[in-house]
Amino acid sequence: MSELHYQLDLLKAMNQKLTEKERMYRMVCEAAPGAFLYFSMEQNRITTIGNWREFFDFDVRENADLERILEAVDESGREKLLETLYPERREEKAASVECLLKERRIWLSFEVQVFCGEDGKPTEKVVHIANVTKHRYQSEELLYMAYYDSLTGLYNRNCYVRLLSEYIRDASETANTVVSVMNIDIDEFNKINDRLGIIMGDELVQQFGMFLKGLCTEKVIACHLHSDVYSIAIYDPGGNRTPEYLYKKILERIRAPFRLSNGQEVNITVSVGVAEYPEAARTALELINYAELVVFRVKASGRNAIQYFDAPILSDFMNSVDLEDKLKRAVAQKDFVMYYQPQYYAGNRRLRGVEALIRWRSKEGDMVSPGTFIPVAEKNGAIVPIGKWVVEESVRQYALWRRQFGFPFVMSINISALQYKREDFVEFLMGVLDKYQVRPSEIELEITESVLIDDFTAVSERLKLLRAQGVRISLDDFGTGFSSLSYLMKLPIDTLKIDKSFVDTVLTDTATRVILESILHMVKALGYESVAEGVEKEQQYQYLHAIGCDVIQGYLFGKPLPADELEKVFEGSLS
Ligand code: C2E
Ligand code: MG
Ligand code: MG
Repeated sequence: MSELHYQLDLLKAMNQKLTEKERMYRMVCEAAPGAFLYFSMEQNRITTIGNWREFFDFDVRENADLERILEAVDESGREKLLETLYPERREEKAASVECLLKERRIWLSFEVQVFCGEDGKPTEKVVHIANVTKHRYQSEELLYMAYYDSLTGLYNRNCYVRLLSEYIRDASETANTVVSVMNIDIDEFNKINDRLGIIMGDELVQQFGMFLKGLCTEKVIACHLHSDVYSIAIYDPGGNRTPEYLYKKILERIRAPFRLSNGQEVNITVSVGVAEYPEAARTALELINYAELVVFRVKASGRNAIQYFDAPILSDFMNSVDLEDKLKRAVAQKDFVMYYQPQYYAGNRRLRGVEALIRWRSKEGDMVSPGTFIPVAEKNGAIVPIGKWVVEESVRQYALWRRQFGFPFVMSINISALQYKREDFVEFLMGVLDKYQVRPSEIELEITESVLIDDFTAVSERLKLLRAQGVRISLDDFGTGFSSLSYLMKLPIDTLKIDKSFVDTVLTDTATRVILESILHMVKALGYESVAEGVEKEQQYQYLHAIGCDVIQGYLFGKPLPADELEKVFEGSLS
């Protein structure tokens, strides 16, 4: 009898243990996001576990019921899902797929794991189903951003350059095929912007951009280059697909004012410059630059017109402006000055470093912005002597500060594409560092993505060399149009500078926030440091800090200042 009692007690205890275990499994599964399907192949039975009802309003008990899941997902993913649910048929142990749940419009991922017995035969299978809608949305946003300008919906610069290069390549393979590039610039946009305010100014840029998008047809593409400048490329112009025809359409449109959302009406005129392959130039970047040069010409001769590139324009421009000489003289006469803008860690607001920004003091005593003269200096090569001066001056200043204040920080220097392309660049930089006894790790070189478009391999090799020496590399203006994410991964970089255009709209635009959060997520995963540029408002700083941005640069914490004025800031922070 006692034997029986004992066995009963044992059974009870085992039962209780099993119930507890089952309770525990259920709770764990319910606490985990998503739902699970458990297949027992031996018993031909399926159990649903976890938050199954979150996704489906029916039960699945056997293989035949799986049909209902297949019916619930969008047709495009059905076949792949069916295949994925049975990885053992392909002798695989795991598989996964993402499908759209039709009625709920949510994306689900199905991850399947097969378990085998000692004989290696599949015995059980677990499918984990999770809601991946947010993740999908973020990847689509990132993909969109890789090709389009978020303000106008037109192609972004990098994508445009690539498509234009394809037009040129196709044209080079067919006899007598022309590719026209027309740059369109809104006249006196600065004044309009000042009058309307930045937000309405952006809206005007957006409305005009959307109008240009309407002009695109097969073999006509448009891009928002920057600020108020657009570019249209036409493959094999003819009939209704010529610069004149498009210009006529633009004139018809701008005869009427643009009506902005605050009720204001704005009239604009535009200056248009055209450069054509093969006559003007043979590469995409050159064509865009020459079209821009023609726009300068149109502006100089009274605006509101269209002009075509011809050789005299180039030489006229060079002669009349005589920029190369002027710039060289400016170097010799020390007409340039360096300003430095501080960068602070978002967490403790301590100084992280400064960015060196060049200024040109004109004869009249005005400060000419680098945005105006750097592109010209890049066109005619004057950037090389200027860039050398910038490197030497910034490193010299850094060495001085290091001695004076003692605290280490990073000196960020902007380097243009042409400088990286010179074979002696690495040697030159190391020479300067040696001369002033500055460690490579105290210097950061900023590059923009345009540097990489032409010659990715050579530039990236040079960057690797610099980095091997300990120099930090930073990718500037990030987000204004990277070609692809995989591109990024191949770059030897330490820091990513998020462009001001994101910071500008971060408080008002949900899409920007989604993109920014996923960028920062990615930056963290890749182990880079993130710097936000152009932070002007306390709320922008608070938000950026909250979503994990490491470093803040912007007027909120400090404008670019000449060395002696910045010293006062340093002294203040030390006392
Ligand atoms: P960048 O490298 O992206 O520099 C940041 C620009 O944003 C600077 O303009 C800076 O003054 C401005 N900025 C910073 N914080 C704020 C803010 O809170 N609000 C606003 N509105 N602006 C802010 P800057 O100095 O006019 O320089 C323009 C561009 O010219 C630079 O963009 C860089 O690409 C180029 N550049 C400047 N110095 C050099 C140089 O020495 N060499 C080369 N190659 N390029 C340079
Ligand atoms: Mg920069
Ligand atoms: Mg920048």
